[in-house]
Amino acid sequence: MGDSNCLFCRIASRQVKADIVGEEEGLLAFKDSHPQAPTHLLVIPTEHFPTLADVTPAQTQLLGSAIQFANRLARQYQLSESGYRVVFNCGSGAGQSVFHLHLHLLGGRPMRWPPG
Ligand code: 5GP
Ligand code: ZN
Repeated sequence: MGDSNCLFCRIASRQVKADIVGEEEGLLAFKDSHPQAPTHLLVIPTEHFPTLADVTPAQTQLLGSAIQFANRLARQYQLSESGYRVVFNCGSGAGQSVFHLHLHLLGGRPMRWPPG
């Protein structure tokens, strides 16, 4: 069951509109509404859990599937050669603003390190 107060649960249940670019069992990918790169996608588990710190051993397979999904999307968006960045912000101090676990897939421009 989704959390009706959670934006990404509401996107997962199609109560809030998003530009969905892919879906597979237990996972959804959509475009970030405030893109920080020419390609900026979010991959979320359709089940609600707040942060990366909440991942249990039972959920590690889903997390691995999210990474494989991101890799497939990166190929689809022609990011394989130029490179891409995959980010999980965990906690507000690290920049997390939506407390439903999500993976950022960013690409299409040069990336600097360290991130801000
Ligand atoms: P965080 O800061 O939690 O790591 O990332 C949350 C991301 O969700 C941000 O990049 C933000 O632009 C994106 N976002 C916030 N609200 C919405 C929305 O309503 N729709 C979509 N597609 N993305 C959103
Ligand atoms: Zn949620």
